[in-house]
Amino acid sequence: MVEAGLSHWLNMGALEVREPPRESDVVLPKPRFALPSSLSKLGRSDTYERLGHCYGKSYRDIARAFARQFEHPPDVVAYPQDEADVVSLLDFCDTERIAVIPYGGGSSVCGGVEAKLSGDFRGALSLDLSELDRVLEVDQDSRAALVQAGVLGPALEAQLKPHGLTLRHYPQSFEFSSLGGWIATRAGGHFATQFTHIDDFVESLRVVTPRGTLETRRLPGSGAGPSPDRLFIGSEGALGVITSAWMRLQHRPRFRANTAVRFPDFMSGATALRALVQSGLYPANCRLLDPMEALMNQADGSGEALLLVAFESADHGLEPWIRRAVELVRDHGGRVDDAKIRISETPPGQDAKREGAQGAWRDAFLRAPYLRDALIARGVFTETFETAVTWDRFERLYRGVTEAALRATRQTGGEGVVTCRVTHAYPDGAAPYFTVVAPAKRGSELAQWDVIKAAITDAMLEHGGTVTHHHAVGRDFMPWYLKQRPELFGDALAAAKRSLDPTGVMNPGVLVPEP
Ligand SMILES: Cc1cc2nc3c(=O)[nH]c(=O)nc-3n(C[C@H](O)[C@H](O)[C@H](O)COP(=O)(O)OP(=O)(O)OC[C@H]3O[C@@H](n4cnc5c(N)ncnc54)[C@H](O)[C@@H]3O)c2cc1C
Repeated sequence: MVEAGLSHWLNMGALEVREPPRESDVVLPKPRFALPSSLSKLGRSDTYERLGHCYGKSYRDIARAFARQFEHPPDVVAYPQDEADVVSLLDFCDTERIAVIPYGGGSSVCGGVEAKLSGDFRGALSLDLSELDRVLEVDQDSRAALVQAGVLGPALEAQLKPHGLTLRHYPQSFEFSSLGGWIATRAGGHFATQFTHIDDFVESLRVVTPRGTLETRRLPGSGAGPSPDRLFIGSEGALGVITSAWMRLQHRPRFRANTAVRFPDFMSGATALRALVQSGLYPANCRLLDPMEALMNQADGSGEALLLVAFESADHGLEPWIRRAVELVRDHGGRVDDAKIRISETPPGQDAKREGAQGAWRDAFLRAPYLRDALIARGVFTETFETAVTWDRFERLYRGVTEAALRATRQTGGEGVVTCRVTHAYPDGAAPYFTVVAPAKRGSELAQWDVIKAAITDAMLEHGGTVTHHHAVGRDFMPWYLKQRPELFGDALAAAKRSLDPTGVMNPGVLVPEP
């Protein structure tokens, strides 16, 4: 159904399906180095492993994979079994001048795991942390757990469940991304207000750097100078390897209340959303979808904007919260069907049922990554661009970015569809997330991406937004990151890198330009 709809909207006719690449389609250059015998059992240099660690999961990455274009493969993929292995591997790479690319789930959408190097490196090692996948200790009193960094979302939650606890950090890539990756990229989870970023759940960290290993103190809060945790949260593998973290947890929610609110247009929905996040209610979910986004996510087909509002708690019923939220959004022109206000309590140990527009949206949200790859195979350009901006500039940014995106898709050869949803909302601003879908220019997909990405990110910066709210910087967003961050801060970050990674082997070119 989605395929037929897209082909119709984009005027593309029958969509020709391209076969995904097979290992036998690709010949890689020989690895430039091998691990010494003391470490060789940790490494793999076969084509399959090197191909699998060549790229992340951005449109550029998938498009290049379909084109059988595997530039910059790592020479060796290493699977450390414990932190001591990470230390030994970093020692070897530091001495031998081999670039180290930390790899969690490989779901980066900004070129964070691609070994594209401009320095005089002898090769590149992809450091896959997937064997560090255990919850090591649970502190029930403080409601926290010590977790190894390589664990993927589902395995983390499965290990916490018997303790009645949960991290409740659900990025859309939950299934395929790791705790260390979330921390290294400052990932945004499903909480749309208040604890939106992983940052708020990190209690302390262990990090292996080429200069040594450091551990920050477990504290509920601290005023002792700049936070050492904050230096590594968002460091994208450029300063060291996060090997484990104490994470703040929550009890599993039992009480839920949710509804869907319709608005005649996106901006009236945004005004109501602002009132809601400034009210002190802090809904767990509070996502505003424009009419096309609501349609494409099968949440609503009425041609109106849709605001999904949901509260959750492990402790108390939520009827007063949802009733007040409904009153508030109605004051701002929202329409809510009373029969569609859902209030529920799940017995302990059971999972909640998802129904209505919320349920439909959640299912589509979780399916979207698979659908995206299928669309790319069919010659559809589909990419997302996210930012955050204060409320005073929200409307200008929304209109400016939408116009820039439409202009750029036309310029690159076709009428595109640009949709917007607000993924996270704050009392002082919001994070709009744009999706561009257009006919791909087969054979020059990367040039098309370059034009669209530049137009959109330029507009984001021009209208006061950030180059990324939660997708991180990687290699692909560096030109705009360098414009956004204060120059003196750039110097300080480069000095921190020189101090922790004097030879510059850690994820070169990310966050700090290569000398
Ligand atoms: C379909 C899709 C949906 C997505 N949805 C979201 C979303 O909702 N919210 C969101 O925030 N992001 C989202 N992303 C982006 C991506 O999933 C996040 O950036 C995620 O945090 C990356 O985790 P990862 O384990 O896959 O890291 P990787 O992709 O393996 O690595 C990302 C970066 O972190 C570094 N790194 C990884 N592990 C470590 C470590 N242990 N120590 C030091 N550095 C490390 C890498 O070197 C790289 O620079 C999405 C991506 C896709 C493909």
